[in-house]
Formats: sequence, C-alpha cells, structure tokens
Amino acid sequence: MSRPKLSPGVVTGEDYKTLVNWCKSEGFALPAVNVTSTSTMNAALEAAAKTKSDIIIQLSGGGAQFFAGAGIENTLSAQVAGAVSAARHADTVAKHYGICVVMHTDHANRGLLPWVDGMIAEGEKNFAATGKPLFSSHMIDLSEESIEDNLAECAKRLPRMAAIGMSLEIELGITGGEEDGVGQDLDKIDNDRLYTQPEHVVQSYQELAHLGHFSIAAAFGNVHGVYKPGNVKLRPIILKNAQDLGEKELNVGERPFDFVFHGGSGSEKTDLEAAIGYGAFKVNIDTDTQFAYSKGAGAYVSENPRAFLYQIDPDTDEPYKKKYDPRKWSRQGEISMCDRLLESFEIFGAAGNSLAS
Ligand SMILES: [Zn+2]
Repeated sequence: MSRPKLSPGVVTGEDYKTLVNWCKSEGFALPAVNVTSTSTMNAALEAAAKTKSDIIIQLSGGGAQFFAGAGIENTLSAQVAGAVSAARHADTVAKHYGICVVMHTDHANRGLLPWVDGMIAEGEKNFAATGKPLFSSHMIDLSEESIEDNLAECAKRLPRMAAIGMSLEIELGITGGEEDGVGQDLDKIDNDRLYTQPEHVVQSYQELAHLGHFSIAAAFGNVHGVYKPGNVKLRPIILKNAQDLGEKELNVGERPFDFVFHGGSGSEKTDLEAAIGYGAFKVNIDTDTQFAYSKGAGAYVSENPRAFLYQIDPDTDEPYKKKYDPRKWSRQGEISMCDRLLESFEIFGAAGNSLAS
C-alpha cells in the first residue's frame, strides 16, 4: 500500500478508516494514551511528533472530569465539557506538531452511556457547523452484560455516529482490573470471560458492520495496570482465531476485524507483536505513562526540595522563583512521559509512519 496523505489534526470519517487500514497493512499499532490535562496531552503529542507517528489520545470519564477541573461538581455534563475541551485542544494544536490525532474516549459502561450520548450530541453540533465531529470515536463497554444487550446498545448509537463520520469501539469479553473506576475484580470473573469467543466477534460484525465502522476490544487475558510477571497470561492467538473464523464466515477479505489491545502497560514485546500481527491497530497505555510523568516531576522535586518550601531561602537568601514555577516541575513530568512513549512508538512499529502532510 503506498502511503496515503492526510491533513494534520483530529482525523474522522474516511480519514480515520484510511489510518486504521494503513496500520494494519503496514503491521503496526498506534499507542492510545490516556490523558487528563493539557500537560499530559502535550507530552503525548510531543512524543508522536518526535517519532513522526500519528497517535490516539483518549480520556476516561474521570480523566474528562479532571480536564474540566477537579474543583467543579463531578457530573456527566462536566465530563462531557472536559472531553469536548480536550478534543478542541487536540485539534487546535495538532497542526503545530504536524501529526494526525485520533481523538477517542475510553470505557463507558451502562452508567456512563449518558456521557457518550452527551458527547455525540456535541459532535453533531460541531458537524452541523464545520462538517466534522469533535471525536474520531467513542468506546461503549457493556462487556459485563450479555452479548445481546451489549450489541443492541451499540447498534442503537452507531448509525447516529456514522452519520457524522464517527467510529465506535466495543468490548467483547472482559478486560481484567479496572480503568479509572470502570471494570471488575479479577477474582470475581469467570476465567473464560477473560477470553473472547471468536463466534461473538463474528456475531458483532454481522450485527454492526452494516451500520458503521467499529473496532473491537477483544479480551485475550488482558488486564489493566501493571502486575508482577507471570500473573497475566495473554493469549493473542485468540485474535487470530477470530480473524480466521471471520474470513471463513463473512467473505469480506483478509483480517476483517479491527482489534484494540487494552492493558498494554507492562506487556511482553512478543505478545504485543503477535496481537499487532493479528490486526490490533491500537494499543492502550495508561499506567506506564502515569508513572513516567510522576517519576519525572518527582525527581525534580527531590532535587530541589527547598524551592518547594520557600520563595526565598531563609538561610542563603536565594530566590527560588525560577525553580518553583509550575512549568519547571510539570515540564520534567512531560519530558519523562514523552521519553517513555518514544519506546512504545518503537515497539509498536509506529515510528516514522505518520500520514500527516
Ligand atoms: Zn481498557
């Protein structure tokens, strides 16, 4: 496939599908980085620009609330406002980084469906005014419910989203652990629900593909967060089995499913490479970048402890303004997060593959 060209900024509609197909045809995945502020988002964009890759930026409901401000009441409408603000920020600055950004929101269980509906409504308003939605896609995660209920709720929303050039991410099978309050205790889930059944993947395609573009977070033993080695048994072969069954039953070409890898933090390189080869175009990373940001900021504070106690040192009269300026310590967090992400872009094969021009 020769390299298509897209305008920098938030990609939606056909451009989004072009980007997903480019990832799959070239055999790489984009990191999907959870952000909670302009600072963490800028660090992610900076890493993408440095490595000449496009990127997926996403927010959880809690992340969107924090983006709007922890000081305002935590309501679904505040979470809508925070997510909208983040999407506008991404689209406004992306051209300065010279990259394409997929703007996405993370796990929404049944309680968070009004959040998704609120964001779709904002997308429709923006589409009416500009011809583009605000987001590339949203996730609906009803994996804890029956497959029938899960797909029915997704089918209700997908036509509305497709009409404004948006895609939907669904979840089949359960990702263990929790992502910002959404999720389940590993001990309470039947083990086989941690591994998606290929038949369910085919069923989702049969019920949703004619309504619009969608991607699938299929569970193959993934867990959110970072655990001691050996505690998580990933079986990416499940993705291959689903693709094989889809090729046989659907007759729509090779690797018909666009897969998403949740719980990418702490994963083995071999599992990542296998999943990407089986059609995972998106790998979520949150825990590792959270740690990287805090580590960088924390190191700065440890190196300059007195600048965080005094404006002017009582013993030496040294003014500390240049050290306690919030840009100083937050920038160290950004640099550290950016460096950690550069590793992910390399491992996922995304480096040098940006479509922005
Ligand atoms: Zn997840």
